[in-house]
Amino acid sequence: MSISPKPMSSVGVFCGASNGNHPRYRAAAEDLGRALVARGCRLVYGAGSIGLMGTVARSVTQFGGSVLGIIPYALTNKELAGETIGEVIHVDTMSQRKALMAKESDAFVALPGGFGTMDELFEMITWSQVGIHRKSIGLYNVDGFFDPILTWVDHAVKEGFIRPPHREIFVVANDPALLLETMARHVPPVGLTTWEGVDDWSNS
Ligand code: AMP
Repeated sequence: MSISPKPMSSVGVFCGASNGNHPRYRAAAEDLGRALVARGCRLVYGAGSIGLMGTVARSVTQFGGSVLGIIPYALTNKELAGETIGEVIHVDTMSQRKALMAKESDAFVALPGGFGTMDELFEMITWSQVGIHRKSIGLYNVDGFFDPILTWVDHAVKEGFIRPPHREIFVVANDPALLLETMARHVPPVGLTTWEGVDDWSNS
């Protein structure tokens, strides 16, 4: 059974465990937190207290929203630094973290980040591509951070490695309120293969 679009009451956010080299990234994470609360969205994230992860979670809490963090036991010392924000669930593996974040989220936003952020973002894009979910995915393109990736996507479409409809799996905006609004209206491209029988996210 494939998963149908749902209202965006819980949004999974993928973002750096670092702050980046410019204050605009932290400001953007704070703005996203405020925009999530303004729409009544719960934040689902990797439970870190460091980097943009911590910033977006503290922002959601500060503005009165609710937060669910999911973290592998092995990363607790490294990414939690003593301070927990909202509800925290511990899991055994990185794959379980990603699967539970996906299950608990109705939609996904990527903020700037590094390899971990890109891993999580691309996994949600590829799961949509094969029809495991039909949840909206949005790139918060802070100061053009994702432009090199968008250029690569266009190149891969042109070269025949990404099917043109799959280019529409995600949306992009440089304002968080606009991004969430665009995601709420976004309908994933029709004609994606559906992965019948896959409804157990923990095995995905
Ligand atoms: P980064 O973007 O590299 O700063 O990482 C952001 C977050 O992604 C950190 O909490 C990482 O622990 C997490 N992360 C990295 N790789 C994975 C993975 N394969 N699955 C789930 N989370 C990951």
